[in-house]
This record gives sequence, structure tokens and C-alpha cells, in this order.
Amino acid sequence: MRTKQFKAESKRLLELMINSIYTHREIFLRELISNASDAIDKLYYHSLSENLTGLSRDDFSIELALDKDARTLTITDNGCGMTKDELESNLGTIAKSGSLAFKQEEDGEHREDIDIIGQFGVGFYSAFMVASRVTVYSRPYGSDEAWKWESRGVEGYTIEPCEMDGHGTKIVLTLKENEGKENYDEFLDPHRVSALVKRYSDYIRYPIRMDMPARRLKEGCPEDKPEYEDYTEHETLNSMVPIWKKNKSELKDEDYNNFYKEKYFDFEDPALVIHSSTEGAATYNALLFIPARAPFNYYSRDYEKGLQLYASGVLIMDRCADLLPDCFSFVKGLVDSQDLSLNISREMLQHDRQLKVIAGRLEKKIHSELLSMLKNDREKYEKFWKNFGLQLKFGVYNDYGAKKDLLQDLLLFHSSSEEKLVTLSEYVGRMKESQKYIYYACGETVEKIGLLPQTELLRDQGYEILYLTDDVDEFALRMLFKYEDKEFKSVADKDLGLETEEEKEEIKKQNEENKDLLGFLRDALDGKVKEVRLSSRLKSHPVCLSSDGMVSLEMEKVLSAMPG
Ligand code: ADP
Ligand code: MG
Repeated sequence: MRTKQFKAESKRLLELMINSIYTHREIFLRELISNASDAIDKLYYHSLSENLTGLSRDDFSIELALDKDARTLTITDNGCGMTKDELESNLGTIAKSGSLAFKQEEDGEHREDIDIIGQFGVGFYSAFMVASRVTVYSRPYGSDEAWKWESRGVEGYTIEPCEMDGHGTKIVLTLKENEGKENYDEFLDPHRVSALVKRYSDYIRYPIRMDMPARRLKEGCPEDKPEYEDYTEHETLNSMVPIWKKNKSELKDEDYNNFYKEKYFDFEDPALVIHSSTEGAATYNALLFIPARAPFNYYSRDYEKGLQLYASGVLIMDRCADLLPDCFSFVKGLVDSQDLSLNISREMLQHDRQLKVIAGRLEKKIHSELLSMLKNDREKYEKFWKNFGLQLKFGVYNDYGAKKDLLQDLLLFHSSSEEKLVTLSEYVGRMKESQKYIYYACGETVEKIGLLPQTELLRDQGYEILYLTDDVDEFALRMLFKYEDKEFKSVADKDLGLETEEEKEEIKKQNEENKDLLGFLRDALDGKVKEVRLSSRLKSHPVCLSSDGMVSLEMEKVLSAMPG
């Protein structure tokens, strides 16, 4: 049997596609600029692999021009251009990508020099979201024939010979007329267009230029009576080389700091900069920052974590939450990768496998950078801890302790004997040989904990105690359960593991002998305490409260204060 071809109502298909793929119509500019950049990349690649002379990297550019009266936005590149056949097949066939074919064919030695963006063969049509007519003039490199392709979208296209100086492609969009709420004038405003270039195409590697309105002092006018005149300046709109693709040795602290402050709207230099590039399972560049201060809304629901995600220098997502674990939600920055499989609108990823690999790597990297800060610059780390320590402690407790191994060495607690913040490892390193547990005590402030009867005896016997003052502290320690095989023990616990077997027997005997008295005291405090017993743990205080359940006195306070 003969297999029949599907027929598609291409007019309807085009309309459907244009209006359903993209969420923001402004991305048409990103798509056309990406195509222009691809076209230049292709020509540049050929110039390298075929040793073409007369082509210099510095001569390549993408030019934008706006004409308010004609309602046109024009994008011109001096890239590879298209033959008549290529115009027909690349622009006349939806979902046909000349760029993908190019990428698949080329595997020469200059492969790393190209970073082609296109792959789906639909980006071009996004122009029809804003244009009623699209005219493409193109002349391939090395040919003197030029062709004009024109389409009003659904009605198909025409193609005819034309005149054109130099090689490359010029695309003229005639913007739709404004209708009711739909207004397209923004794409005729140089400031708006320039902002869009900055937003989406800042790291395209060739200059994107446009005439920008400017104003200057009129020449020869008297100093006390300044007069101004308007003129236009041909400006490069994009920064081209992304700072994260530069070599670390080329960059100074100041470069990173300025980039951070400008991009993430902070007034202060970041506390830590992490610049890393990786190849292998996932190839990416990452530039991460830890702010010097917690943002004002950091510990509220309003705060959204996430990193910017770029694919080959083109912005895909502004806040990709999956790249960061919650415990490191304070990290800001971006990731740029060439091998992300994007969905067709290039607004999202197809699946998150690569993202998971990258996220895993970043998590390790952030962790190791924090550890080395802790080791090498304690003062700086303690500042960091003041801002974000709470988040790390929440991180230990959250998700049933999934991140506790990652975080345990980053924790700091106040120590009774050192009278400063210490790590768990420092505590364990100082433990007495006979000491079974890591002791902790909870309270509102370090001073108040110091006054507790329970801490007195232990301190007196030379034991170090961790003083916990945040609500989450004890929850975090209980989630950890052990550190280097030493269990955590609250000083309010019934059994602190201090007495010898004989001493225990002795206390037990005394409790037995005084059963009636203790029972009487318990009845008098009915409903307030569960049990009254004699203890060997007191020194200058006559009584203390202790607990034996899963929930300590302090935890009970926290739990009962939580909104039910
Ligand atoms: P994609 O970029 O995903 O391949 P597009 O719909 O954006 O899909 O473009 C389709 C094809 O048209 C490209 O693959 C490329 O071959 C060709 N093309 C588009 N714009 C240009 C241009 N400015 N210069 C040369 N070729 C272009
Ligand atoms: Mg494209």
C-alpha cells in the first residue's frame, strides 16, 4: 500500500503556531537577532575553515533601524545570506531549520568557534506576531544575485530578484496597525527597542547597533546661556562578551562587583563571587554571588529564589528555581549552557535532566566555597552566618533532613566554654575522652541560658555546651541526631550519661526511699508536672525542670506558638 502524505492547512497551522508558542510577543526581536547572529556565525565559520580572505571578525554587525512614518523595524546582518532555494526552503517551510542542518553537518576543527542558536525552524515566524508584512532581502556571500522574499503571513509568500549591496540579509517588518488595545508603537521607540536588546540579546557576540536620539551642547553658544541640539548617535546596544565567558585572570574584583550591583540591583559589593566553568556531563558557565546582606524580604514568602538561565548567551529564564536548593536560596547569579534542550518557544526546558545535573554541581560548588570561607576567613564567614545562617539551619531540618549531610559542617553555635561561635567539628575535637554526648541548652539569649540550673553543673565539670537561641536550632540538631557518631543531648534531658552505674543505683534507691514525699509533691503540682524525682544534677539550685519525651520544653514552646 502506498503511504499517503498528511495534508496540512498551512495557513491555519501558521496562525495557530504563531499565537500559541510564545507568551511574550516582544521575543520576536530576540528570535530575529538570534538568526542574524547565526548567519554571521556561519559565514565566520566558513571564513575560518576555508581560509577566506577579506573577511574580518571586526566587520560583522547587526544593524537595527526604525522608521516611525513607514511603521517599519529593519534588521540587517552581513552574515552568510540565503540563495533563492534557501529562502524557499528555510522561510517557506515551517519547522525547517537551516541552522540545525548546519550544526549537524559541520564537525571540523573550528566547531568550538561556533555557537549556533537556531534549531527548531519556527523563530522567524514570530515576526508575524507584530508585523503585518515581512520582507526579506538576501544575498549569499560570494554571489551577486539577490532575492526578495515577502509575506503577509497567512497568505503565503512571493519571491523575486532584487538589488542589494553586499552580502547578508535585511529583514523589514511592517508593524501591524494599532487596533483597540493592541498597540505596536513600542517597537518604533528606540529606547524600548534598545531595552529589549539589552534584556534578551545582550550577549550576542556581534555588535547590535542602532541610531539613538541624543542631545548635546550647541557648539559656540555662550557658557552662561547653554543651548542644546538634538542629534542621533549610532550606538552599540549590547555588551557582547558576557563577563562569565571571560577568563578569570582577565577579571578584577571590581569587574565582578560592578556587574553584580548593576544586574541584581544591590548597593553593596557581594560577600562572595563564584565563577566556574565546567565541561563534561554538562557544559556550562556559572557566575554566582552571595549578597553581603540578606534582602529585606528574604525570610518572607515574597522572596523568590532562582538563577538566570542563558542558552548560548541568550536569556531563556529570568528566575529558574530548579537550579538552586532551598538551603542556598540566597545565592544570586546565572548559568549559561550550550547544551540545554529547550522547548520550541525557547522559553522553557524540554526536560530537567540537564538542569538536575547542573543544579547538583552548583550545590557542591557553593558548599565547598562556603567551607573554604569558613576555614580561611572566619570573620567573613561569621558575617555571612549572621545573614543566612538561619536558612542553613532550616535547610538541615527541611525535607526530612535530605540536605543534612551537606550542611552539618557549615553550622555555627554559641559555645559555653569558648564564648563565641563554634562548629560541630571544633566541639567534637575538644570533647573529653569519657564524654558520650554533645550537650546543648536552649533559651532566649546566651545570657539566660547561662543562668539555667541545668547548665551549671555541666559547666562546672568542664563540659562544653552549645547554647541554642533560635527556634529552629533544636529541631535542626534533632534532625541531625548525631555528629561524628556523637549524639546530641539536651541538658534538660533526664539522663545525661554522667553518672556511674553505682551513682545511678544510689539515686534510684533514694528515690525509692522518698517515694511518699515525691508522690505528695507530684499531687500538689497535679497537671503541671508528670513526675517529681531526686537528682544528682543540681549544684546551687534546689530544683530544675527536665524532660524525657521526644519534645523538649523549648520545642514545646515553639510548637505551641505556631499558628495551628
Ligand atoms: P531556527 O533559527 O530555529 O533554525 P528560524 O525559523 O528562526 O529557525 O529560521 C529558519 C531558518 O532560516 C534558519 O535555520 C536559517 O537557515 C534561515 N535564516 C533565518 N534568518 C536568517 C538570516 N538572517 N540569514 C540567513 N539565514 C537565515
Ligand atoms: Mg531562529
